[in-house]
Amino acid sequence: MDSETLKKYVLNCRKCSLCKTRTNIVFGDGNDKSKIMFIGEAPGEQEDLSGIPFVGKAGQLLDKMLLSIGLDRTKLYICNMLKCRPPKNRNPEKSEMDLCIDYLRRQFLIIKPKLIVLLGSVASRYLLDENFSMNRSHGQVFEKKGVIFVPTFHPSALLRDESKKKLSYNDLLIIKNIIEKNNLL
Ligand code: URA
Repeated sequence: MDSETLKKYVLNCRKCSLCKTRTNIVFGDGNDKSKIMFIGEAPGEQEDLSGIPFVGKAGQLLDKMLLSIGLDRTKLYICNMLKCRPPKNRNPEKSEMDLCIDYLRRQFLIIKPKLIVLLGSVASRYLLDENFSMNRSHGQVFEKKGVIFVPTFHPSALLRDESKKKLSYNDLLIIKNIIEKNNLL
């Protein structure tokens, strides 16, 4: 199955109650031939309205962060743990992620990323370790089944607490280094 076929399938999803409040399903954006995948949490208001991940304030900051290490959306694939916006941007519930994870797994199988950057604790706890602490372990490199995972701060967390920006930039340099060392572009 290719990405477009999967997307068409996902657009009809009614597996959880978020289908009742969503405007659009936010499937993914960027280059589906990339070896680099970024995974966020869930769509916010702007993403729900446009159907594109990371286009609101946090997304604009993310684009700047990417640019600071020579990346843009043509060079990576970006998506979220949840494909639909939780009301009032509340955190995704585990039961919702348990239902949505099958779509992310299928995205993995299509993209076959070598590097996965986890944006924020929600994705890091679900995909790495339920006790994951971003303050303790951001920028650490994990390997699972031949895929490199690097958790780092969600851009929304940086908008809330500017003092994390320096730590975040150090993580970006680690990511840049992995990309260069492994020829991922
Ligand atoms: N936050 C996310 O985690 N994902 C988006 O797409 C937008 C904001």
